[in-house]
Amino acid sequence: MSGVVDVSRRVPDRLTLLQRLYLPEIFRGMAVTLRHLVLNLLDRRRMPTIQYPEQKRNYSKRFRGKHILKAREDGTLKCVACYMCQQACPAECITIVAGEHPKIAYEKYPVVFDIDMMRCVFCGFCVDACPKDAIWMTRNYEMAFFTREDAVFSIDRLRESTAEVAAHGYGYRPYYPGDGTTPPSDASMLPVVSGSGERDTLRREGVALADRSAGAGPLNAPSQAAKAFSA
Ligand code: SF4
Ligand code: SF4
Repeated sequence: MSGVVDVSRRVPDRLTLLQRLYLPEIFRGMAVTLRHLVLNLLDRRRMPTIQYPEQKRNYSKRFRGKHILKAREDGTLKCVACYMCQQACPAECITIVAGEHPKIAYEKYPVVFDIDMMRCVFCGFCVDACPKDAIWMTRNYEMAFFTREDAVFSIDRLRESTAEVAAHGYGYRPYYPGDGTTPPSDASMLPVVSGSGERDTLRREGVALADRSAGAGPLNAPSQAAKAFSA
């Protein structure tokens, strides 16, 4: 039957003299390489390699690359440090340390938000899990690192930048209509708690506000920001 390898077929126990010399097989292999080299030189269009980074491959529309953290109109991160993305992450590569937001309207925010890109499997579960539409993915796959620490992206590298989105575009989001970039409703723009008073003002006025400890992150490499926070 075509396409089926008959594994029961016995391989001869002893090699012939020609096979033991190896030279004929080496010349046969070199002839194949030479044939491809000449054909590729005569017709460059059939070459499977591309001149990266000048040329880039077209990836599938469903491609997902580097993450971005979305911001509200006032520039604050939409993330409310609820840890849902961290819980959903199968690679345990997200580290979040929550803090009280200076604006009472937003309650919590991530003091530290790290993603270890070396461990990330780009599954998009974090994006799906986020109730605040705060974490998206881009189509940016250009991530190269010299050290493990370099691969841990903190807020400064995750915050959405217009230039990055313009260059790479947003990644695929299956639960959003159209091209996956328009959420059905943007509830995350609304404050968690009504009012816009500053925490410090409320403290000065004697309003009781709960203190929260940072808590321990998962067992992954913390970024410089996380280390600085815990120092
Ligand atoms: S894409 Fe998947 S593996 Fe990567 S941070 Fe999100 S949930 Fe974790
Ligand atoms: S799920 Fe969304 S809001 Fe919650 S911590 Fe992650 S990014 Fe922030």
